[in-house]
Amino acid sequence: MTLSVLEPAAPAAEPVVTSRVSLVGRTRAGLGDALAEIGVPEKERRMRVGQLWNWIYHYGVRDFSAMTTIGKGLRAALDERFTLDLPEVTAEQVSTDGTRKWLIRMAPTGPRDRGAEIECVYIPEVDRGTLCVSSQVGCTLTCTFCHTGTQRLVRNLTCEEIVAQLMVARDRLGDFPNRSKPDGAFVPNDGGRFVSNIVFMGMGEPLYNFDGVRDAIDVISDNEGLSLGRRRITVSTSGVVPQIGPLGHEMGTMLAISLHAVRDELRNELVPLNKKYPIAELLEACRTYPGVSNAKRITFEYVMLKGVNDSDADARDLVRLLKGIPAKINLIPFNPWPGTKYECSDWDRIERFSEIVFRAGYASPVRTPRGRDILAACGQLKSETEKLSARARLMLDQDEAAAAAAVAAE
Ligand code: SAH
Ligand code: SF4
Repeated sequence: MTLSVLEPAAPAAEPVVTSRVSLVGRTRAGLGDALAEIGVPEKERRMRVGQLWNWIYHYGVRDFSAMTTIGKGLRAALDERFTLDLPEVTAEQVSTDGTRKWLIRMAPTGPRDRGAEIECVYIPEVDRGTLCVSSQVGCTLTCTFCHTGTQRLVRNLTCEEIVAQLMVARDRLGDFPNRSKPDGAFVPNDGGRFVSNIVFMGMGEPLYNFDGVRDAIDVISDNEGLSLGRRRITVSTSGVVPQIGPLGHEMGTMLAISLHAVRDELRNELVPLNKKYPIAELLEACRTYPGVSNAKRITFEYVMLKGVNDSDADARDLVRLLKGIPAKINLIPFNPWPGTKYECSDWDRIERFSEIVFRAGYASPVRTPRGRDILAACGQLKSETEKLSARARLMLDQDEAAAAAAVAAE
């Protein structure tokens, strides 16, 4: 697969400082605050919030003048104080199979801020379109194989900035009513939406931005707006154990765990957070994850590092460790980055590892030549986001692995 750059990164322009704030990404309460700010009486606000909600999230309008159910006076008052702007897309890459990557520059938070940049990836599959979103700029954790962990600038993304990633994707894909679709866009074969699933597997540790992620999921899953069901949203964590229960209770999404090692000694090195929350505690939180069942399995991510965690014994221990937990296993070929000390496991090693996992009854993703092509296309946008290509490839492979498992089970 080849990725072609449609729009080169824009030259670093001076950020436009505007006193008007965008309403896109706000919760209902946040929209209520906006209305209060411009003097809309309290008894009217609920109804007005409903109208704004519908126009912003269902129709995706970019201009208050399009909100025909709202009187001209209120539209003008809104326009004076607020906008419906989306953050700027500074680069877009499109692959031949429809995978798209956007580099998104968030609005500056202050006069010295040029606006943080994050990456967001859209992966079309046969029966779904998955959007991989970020929850933080950078990450405070320092997993040794992850480039994001080496980034200096770290801050939580706001609820608005998280929701904006989906809004940008739908906007770019023409995935709002009455919008034209971009040339060569992937067309869902069931008449469904382009983006049908969301994974929090971009930059950052979502459970360290609990409130922002929770509010964003509330907005995204609201069925009068963006309407993406909670079962179609997966939050990936490196293992922030105390927040796993609350994640299930308050967000009710699918859970993914970045496991990567079966022994504490090694996991302490790869995922230093393990020193605080060791494997046994992490797996206990998984066993008791609210709503976990065979129909709602936990995904365990396992990055394949040559000579580090990829032996047959590791594979057997992995299967043993997960016994009794409704689980899916995702093997992620390591995506190298400049300066890393790790290498990706050889292909036959990954195959052997996945075979052991597969024989134990788990669908284990198998890399395809197409995947190799994508790996070759890594690093075209920003090096710290290279790993997303690995994620993208694996997700593309997931269906094939599931299909293979189904065939084998027959
Ligand atoms: N912080 C969260 C979510 C973002 S990371 C977490 O760690 O789960 C998303 C996934 O990409 C994680 O499983 C992470 O371990 C994996 N990853 C990070 N760097 C990688 C790399 N260089 N190659 C392959 N996968 C990587
Ligand atoms: Fe942070 Fe996840 Fe990277 Fe670890 S793997 S440094 S938790 S983004």
